[in-house]
Amino acid sequence: MDDVRALWDEVVVVPDFPEPGISFKDLSGILANPTTLGIAVRAWADACRGEEPTMIVGIEARGFPLGAALAYELGCGFVSLRKPGKLPRAVHRREYALEYGTSALELHQDALTAEDRVVIVDDVLATGGTAAAAVHLVRETGAHVISLAAIMDLPFLGGRGVLQAEGVRCHVLLDDDGNPHPHP
Ligand code: AMP
Repeated sequence: MDDVRALWDEVVVVPDFPEPGISFKDLSGILANPTTLGIAVRAWADACRGEEPTMIVGIEARGFPLGAALAYELGCGFVSLRKPGKLPRAVHRREYALEYGTSALELHQDALTAEDRVVIVDDVLATGGTAAAAVHLVRETGAHVISLAAIMDLPFLGGRGVLQAEGVRCHVLLDDDGNPHPHP
């Protein structure tokens, strides 16, 4: 079993970005290092393989490379949840509140079917607003959301509870102090 604590060595905490008071967790170093990228993807795959997912849905932008790597590892397909105006065909759209500001996500209406079992992927789970919007968008297609995979959560913002209330499991590897979650 890999040690997910190695992921913390690649995390850069940037104070006051993108605005004063926000402690931004830059996880791009985890992707840049092939060892830590492999540790994260294998840990997620071990946690959710038994859920028998058929599709991985990645949230723009860091959910794209992470989600595609997980999809490859599990033998699943990959679908993108995008910021507004990027997808060319008919979309479902959902607005949501962020830790800082508001945003929206879109999903192609025909990207998933009622037979799909979906794991949603993002880098950081903060308030859970983004992940909850993703859950609702996937459900609009008729697909079943099984779980969310993220590298880090910020427990003081309560995102896990938001997903639990939706009946969605969380596979999170680290908290914001670098402690591994005991049961990702
Ligand atoms: P939330 O909707 O509040 O759970 O925010 C999660 C989304 O915003 C993810 O896509 C993260 O990439 C990003 N995000 C929110 N807060 C932070 C933070 N403190 N550090 C890094 N990314 C963050």
